[in-house]
Amino acid sequence: MQKIKNYINGVLTEPVSIHYIDNIDPSTGEVYSMCADSDARDVELAYQAAEAAFEDWANMPVGNRSRIMLRLAELIEKNTDKLALAESIDQGKPVWLAKNGEIPRAQSNIHFFATAIEHFSSEAHPMGNHALNYTLRTPIGVVGCISPWNLPLYLFTWKIAPALAAGNCVVAKPSEVTPMTAYLFSELCIEAGLPKGVLNIVHGLGPKVGSAIVAHEKITAISFTGGTKTGAEIARIAAPMFKKLSLELGGKNPNIIFADCDFDKAVKESVRASFTNQGEICLCGSRLFIERSIYDKFKEAYIKQVSNLKIGDPLLDDTKVGAIASKVHFDKILSYIELAKQEGGTVLTGGNIYKPIGRCANGFFIEPTVIEGLSFDCRTNREEIFGPVVTLQPFDTEEEVLMMANSTTYGLATMMFTENLSRAHRMAANVKSGIVWVNCWLLRDLRTPFGGIKQSGVGREGGLEALRFFTEVKNVCIKL
Ligand code: NDP
Repeated sequence: MQKIKNYINGVLTEPVSIHYIDNIDPSTGEVYSMCADSDARDVELAYQAAEAAFEDWANMPVGNRSRIMLRLAELIEKNTDKLALAESIDQGKPVWLAKNGEIPRAQSNIHFFATAIEHFSSEAHPMGNHALNYTLRTPIGVVGCISPWNLPLYLFTWKIAPALAAGNCVVAKPSEVTPMTAYLFSELCIEAGLPKGVLNIVHGLGPKVGSAIVAHEKITAISFTGGTKTGAEIARIAAPMFKKLSLELGGKNPNIIFADCDFDKAVKESVRASFTNQGEICLCGSRLFIERSIYDKFKEAYIKQVSNLKIGDPLLDDTKVGAIASKVHFDKILSYIELAKQEGGTVLTGGNIYKPIGRCANGFFIEPTVIEGLSFDCRTNREEIFGPVVTLQPFDTEEEVLMMANSTTYGLATMMFTENLSRAHRMAANVKSGIVWVNCWLLRDLRTPFGGIKQSGVGREGGLEALRFFTEVKNVCIKL
């Protein structure tokens, strides 16, 4: 069986424990590879390699650094089919989604930051003819990047690309649930000629590997994407050590449908925003607020499209909803569907385990589920489910929907559908989230700041924000 090894100091290495964890294909429920069960000893080896590589990488002319990263981007593109298939098997998502969305985006992440760094500059503040201030931005050193299982290679590269481009060396940990594409990526790093030690990938469990990275006294910046609870634990350890922290956390995103929307577009985009990647995207719209005058009409059209989504084998081209990433997560989602019923919700479609016939009979599938009749502030509407479960609520006024949309502890993304420009601006200014999409969803420009407010995160990724995070800032004041 294939072994997913660590990538430390430029080579694929066994974990010190020589122990491996089962890696499961969620569409079949079967173990199909073994993932290194690393611990603090492997993190230390990775740190030592990164530390040794830092001087040369940080001082390499930017153009050379950029060229190596561009080679990596090219290799991702060349291997799109292989990586997409691996991502689909490892995570459960439809293979077409990985091929058309995630793997190309992983390529863009590397390409974007490889080129962005060549245009990255800092400010100067002349004080007349008395003095000159300039801002020096230098790499931090060895940084830690920890990523989740829902968009494995996409989110992994979204972190390591700006870190590397800015001249840092990285100790990275992908999720143990979906380690395969990060492993394949380490093979591409070797092929691209990335100098040894510049990137080190340590596989294993969060509480063993992730926490060792966070607690390492010489790793002084941590970029983390994952759940809010884990983010809080990371902050608890890192804050007293005064580490730089970027936390991209959970969401419970509202999707607001006004009566003046382009109806067909709103229905279609809302279905996509609800169930893409089985609803396992932090940006999915899980709470739909629909203006009362079109509530019944919208509900009918939306349910019709949702119940037509084909669920099943992720490797089939016409599958729209694949498998849930793990059994633990599958059980969690089902428990929330039960909770919704206990809280008085009515399941309009879905709500059940789905059992495909054949190859995927033992996989983790849940029907796309739509629930109505819940109060806006019940647990189902407050807590992140992170699966194919959506609730519908009617509203009467802008004030009311704003209050309901803003009522959770999260603040990642808001979607709204309206043809009224003034309303769109007004609402965008007043919703409490880091991202607002009007008449669209997941339309991304990598130059824009990305992140959440409240318990959805601290700091911003994307464009210059990421390059700023991964550099140390110094003001130099010279008396003339
Ligand atoms: P987790 O928080 O469970 O895990 C994220 C990563 O952190 C994994 O690599 C995990 O390791 C690791 N980890 C777990 N415990 C610790 C620890 N104590 N110290 C350090 N690292 C640790 O999140 P999930 O993987 O379950 O991902 C889903 C969550 O991610 C959802 O809440 C979702 O909203 C959020 N998310 C946020 C995004 C954003 O941009 N805001 C984007 C995508 C997802 P392992 O899994 O190997 O044990």
